[in-house]
Amino acid sequence: MRYYGALEAGGTKMVLSRLDGQGNMLERTSMPTDTPETTLPAIIEWFLEHPVDALGIGSFGPVDLHPDSPTFGYITSTPKLAWRNAPLMPVLRDALSVPVGLDTDVNAAAVAEAALGAARGLDSCLYVTVGTGIGGGLIIGGKPVHGLTHPELGHQLLKPHRHDPLPRGVCPYHEGCLEGLAAGPSLQMRWQMPGHQIPQDHAAWEIEADYLAQMCHNALMSFSPEKIILGGGVMQQDFLIPMIRERTVRLLGGYLDIPQVRSGLDEIIVPPGLGVNSGVMGAWILAKQAVGETVA
Ligand code: ADP
Ligand code: ZN
Repeated sequence: MRYYGALEAGGTKMVLSRLDGQGNMLERTSMPTDTPETTLPAIIEWFLEHPVDALGIGSFGPVDLHPDSPTFGYITSTPKLAWRNAPLMPVLRDALSVPVGLDTDVNAAAVAEAALGAARGLDSCLYVTVGTGIGGGLIIGGKPVHGLTHPELGHQLLKPHRHDPLPRGVCPYHEGCLEGLAAGPSLQMRWQMPGHQIPQDHAAWEIEADYLAQMCHNALMSFSPEKIILGGGVMQQDFLIPMIRERTVRLLGGYLDIPQVRSGLDEIIVPPGLGVNSGVMGAWILAKQAVGETVA
């Protein structure tokens, strides 16, 4: 029997799991994302104690995903300085001596949602996490999209909401990008309280929904995904999804005249079918693919 390792490599924590061939979770642990010098050996130690035949990694980014690049599998220009140019994937592959599958955290989640979750049976979907940052994994033609590097959907530029007291946002790189305007830290900065403390009737959510609706509009116009799956900590406010659907319909302005839009986008803009497990199941699928197996 084969065992599969799944590493959800996040900017704040690493979540390590061992699963069987059916995707049942056998063991799981997590550790803070400290420095490569301390965290990578700790990951290796855990997987040596819980041996696997293949490892899948869904990584925070930016990460080099070009197999023929000399820095394939390295974290690249992250604002997390200790991890800049860290050889995440090659170090783990060489220490564990198993095939490794690698993609961004959000592409992994999108792969899982397409195989087993809300976009099951579909050829296209967009998975977006709205958490500490905003990232998007795009599946088109059944495959995650990689290009020049990989999509950085969270850094698309938006039109500021006219009542936004923080229209520049908090991204150090951009004025008015989606992540800077709508990820968890922007809620904290704008309203001086974390997202989970902001009441449902607060103006914060009107502005938040507007930004996420602009993103959905842009995604529908740019890629035409059959589902837009919204996950991450901020989306735990489940009244947000209906607000986003309604505003997206409005922003589309009747241009996309199809039944799914006319009926309010209920079928298109949805929460993750796998709940909080999209990431781990995506890494599991990457591990399976690394040894030539496919999942439904
Ligand atoms: P990460 O993005 O680090 O993987 P999460 O997806 O849990 O982790 O996102 C964390 C962010 O989401 C934080 O900024 C936090 O304030 C925000 N958040 C967490 N829970 C909620 C909630 N129930 N409502 C609104 N915001 C939340
Ligand atoms: Zn930005």
